[in-house]
Amino acid sequence: MQIENKQAMEAITAGPPAYRQYARQWLASNLPEHMRSDSLAYRTPTLEECRTWEASMYSAGLAGMTWPKTYGGLGLTLREHLVVNKEVGALAMPESVSSIGKELAGPIIQTVGTEEQKQKFLPRILSMSDFWCQGFSEPDAGSDLARLRTKATQEGDQWRINGQKIWTSGAAKAHFCLLLTRTGTVADKHRGLLMFAVPMNTPGIRVVPIKSIDGKESFAEVFFDNVLVPDSARLGAPDEGWNAAIRVLSIERATNRMYRPWRFECELRQLIAACKSDTKLHALLQDGYYQRRIGELVGEIDAHKGLVERTVEKMVAGEKIGAQGSLTKLYWSECHQAFMGLALSLVSHVNPLSSPLARRARAHFTTGYLFARAETIYAGVTEVQLDIIAQRIMDLPKDL
Ligand SMILES: Cc1cc2nc3c(=O)[nH]c(=O)nc-3n(C[C@H](O)[C@H](O)[C@H](O)COP(=O)(O)OP(=O)(O)OC[C@H]3O[C@@H](n4cnc5c(N)ncnc54)[C@H](O)[C@@H]3O)c2cc1C
Repeated sequence: MQIENKQAMEAITAGPPAYRQYARQWLASNLPEHMRSDSLAYRTPTLEECRTWEASMYSAGLAGMTWPKTYGGLGLTLREHLVVNKEVGALAMPESVSSIGKELAGPIIQTVGTEEQKQKFLPRILSMSDFWCQGFSEPDAGSDLARLRTKATQEGDQWRINGQKIWTSGAAKAHFCLLLTRTGTVADKHRGLLMFAVPMNTPGIRVVPIKSIDGKESFAEVFFDNVLVPDSARLGAPDEGWNAAIRVLSIERATNRMYRPWRFECELRQLIAACKSDTKLHALLQDGYYQRRIGELVGEIDAHKGLVERTVEKMVAGEKIGAQGSLTKLYWSECHQAFMGLALSLVSHVNPLSSPLARRARAHFTTGYLFARAETIYAGVTEVQLDIIAQRIMDLPKDL
């Protein structure tokens, strides 16, 4: 499907300022009030509501910015991707329910997939017809992914898959799994890894939801018991799995959810508006401690914006970002986790007699605080990012 929104095409042709203006207006006038987490009308949107919303963003020319036109994208650069991301971040809208498809599976299929796979998968990701999950981590292979054991054995023109994945976000709703397997033994480490696009309704796949600290069941254990897939489900050559996985991880760390600093700023606006609406919280805002912490946060968000903008410019110029992705991952996760701690310490003073905005903020930031505990773990734990920065950016010796 090609974008047929005339207004979007005119704005894109007119250049980034016009596209930004179009994105801002379209998002503000089309995002349902009950999906804005800073609104008193907010209620947790259903999966179907989120799917419909993101499908409408796609039809409006606000998704698939960098994807080739042949596969339903807009054929633009990361600069236009960033233009839209800034506007997405500035509104308190729900997180994408298809970020693994749009930001991880899609790009890797474009890199290692066959022409047939690109035609089959990419347009359906953009139109929100298919959801994807990422089957990398295992009980004994998280930070050290090269220890993964899930085995893929070739049998004629099929592959037999046996093993277990864990922490698989969105597995229960996914139509496909971007699955990392091993064709040899664990001793082969980085060699002999193979990636697949596995339909989640294949016989032998069992999804067991895991409840997280926020009470949600957003991830799961996924068991593969003699799962048979055709050779056409293979993404890349048998020994290309590690390189493909590293590419996925570097996208995840550097460019996935580029809107983050603009979203953090939007959350900060929400927090301050809620505090100002309530006598007790307003008094706390005058406290020197909170004023200093908020001031620091504003500076950190600004630095984070600069990091994202610089990464985009480097990538547009054709530079590889490599280990720089670890810097971005470390920065946003530590910054947001600290922010959510600060927000919780303010909204914990909210009581049933507080202003409606303050009560809304308490619900939002309590959930935010709990989820932020995971931010320094997923997409690579903080300690590993520090190792990468020390060795590959700062060139420090391994053993001091
Ligand atoms: C919310 C959430 C969603 C996730 N979604 C997915 C998903 O969709 N798909 C998927 O495949 N995975 C997913 N994961 C898993 C995630 O990628 C792993 O949790 C992560 O890679 C860490 O692996 P681990 O949990 O095995 O911890 P480990 O690797 O065992 O690390 C545990 C702790 O050991 C320490 N440590 C580990 N290595 C080092 C080191 N080299 N140097 C110093 N200290 C170290 C750190 O303190 C670390 O916190 C998700 C995780 C979370 C929390």
